[in-house]
Amino acid sequence: MAEDLNNDSSESDTFEVIDTNGPVQIIKDNGDHTFTLCENDLATILMSKNLKDTPVVVVSVAGAFRKGKSFLLDFILRYLTCEGRPGWMGDPEEELTGFKWRGGTNRETSGIWVWGQPFIRTNPVTGEKVAILLMDTQGTFDNQAIVRDSATIFALSTMLSSIQIYNISQQISEDDLQHLHLFTDYGRLAMQDDSSDSKTKPFQRLEFLIRDWAFEYEFELGATGGKNYLNKILAVSENQHEELQEVRHHINNCFENVGCFLLPYPGRTVASKPQFNGKISDMEDDFAKGIENLIPYFLHEDILQSKKIHGQTLKGKDLLYYFKSYVEIYQQDTLPEPMTMLRATAEANNLSALASAQEKYTENMDKKVGGDHGYLNETDLTTHHAESMELAEKEFHSTRKMGGSELSKAYLDKLEKYMEDQFQQYCKINESKNIFKSARTPITLFIVLAV
Ligand code: GDP
Ligand code: MG
Repeated sequence: MAEDLNNDSSESDTFEVIDTNGPVQIIKDNGDHTFTLCENDLATILMSKNLKDTPVVVVSVAGAFRKGKSFLLDFILRYLTCEGRPGWMGDPEEELTGFKWRGGTNRETSGIWVWGQPFIRTNPVTGEKVAILLMDTQGTFDNQAIVRDSATIFALSTMLSSIQIYNISQQISEDDLQHLHLFTDYGRLAMQDDSSDSKTKPFQRLEFLIRDWAFEYEFELGATGGKNYLNKILAVSENQHEELQEVRHHINNCFENVGCFLLPYPGRTVASKPQFNGKISDMEDDFAKGIENLIPYFLHEDILQSKKIHGQTLKGKDLLYYFKSYVEIYQQDTLPEPMTMLRATAEANNLSALASAQEKYTENMDKKVGGDHGYLNETDLTTHHAESMELAEKEFHSTRKMGGSELSKAYLDKLEKYMEDQFQQYCKINESKNIFKSARTPITLFIVLAV
């Protein structure tokens, strides 16, 4: 719209105001096996100045209900708030706050929350400035009727994160691996995509986090023991179900990095005392030490990697398109086929390229035809339009796209149509600045010229 042409400020001011100083629910379970994206709230966060044009690191914690996911995220919050300085774990007597934890035994509805404030960091190795977004998921996994809902939450959070922390109690079971089946299938398709560079893996980092690890004599606590344990679990044997053999075969092809961390039992107070409020002094020492080692292992500045899809780095504004496309495919009664997931990815991929290209066009047009500029003669205006179109098309083509050339051609057509429409608006604005034409009578013309 012409009115919006000069609006280059943060778009967040066009959203309904929400409190972003805490957890914000972005995906709601409607209770009938469908999910709704809280678009206003998510857009408020992703389109904020800090996030909109900054590559995003999305850290997600997923897995069964009441296994300490939110609790862990609250320590991640402490780590990030203190920028990992020594002593970041905090006062041993301090209550643990942030994402809501200690859900009790009551069933809670599933959904996804994010922390309303991103953490801005620069990776000292790559020099990349990133915004870290923390994502808390709630799936129940405890009742057959709602297994599908949990699988949906697990799928959405895996697809949208750059680090998926898969929180598991005691040991990795076949059921836990079963949840990954959809991704390994999707991954195979994505890697076969004709526009794909076959070296690009569809997902980035998967970390199994095993709670209450009891076999320290077999595999030591921490990341090294975890890696060895994982190797054992992922070994393929003939008596496994075919599907699970496949998952094992493909897990390393689908994720760029797969790790595992073994955490010990936290002690009875943490595990079962209702009055426990998160004080470190109530935890077993080994457990507190484990948390202290675990978080830098996940989130040390040196290893932060922004979310990539098909090799393309996602900024806050891009992530919004992926959220929209993915939530949409989870509206049906059945879990989507990997092929549908692939299509949705390709759509979102093209949509975000289209949006960047459109932005490029208006940004460049505004440089000469924006509100503060004077009248431009017709030849200069047309030349400037042609230049802006060229820049926008270049921007569109600079993004690697999934879904083949036919799909991207459809989006390119949309881009051209958009630019032509916008150009008509710019022409009108420009024309209104033409004092010779807007002056209707000789006397007004005289006044205008005299001023
Ligand atoms: P979520 O539903 O997975 O987010 O779980 P919460 O973070 O709400 O925590 C549920 C309960 O698990 C709390 O009472 C915590 O004290 C407890 N808890 C946290 N970490 C651990 C752990 O490693 N082992 C055990 N057994 N309990 C834990
Ligand atoms: Mg929770």
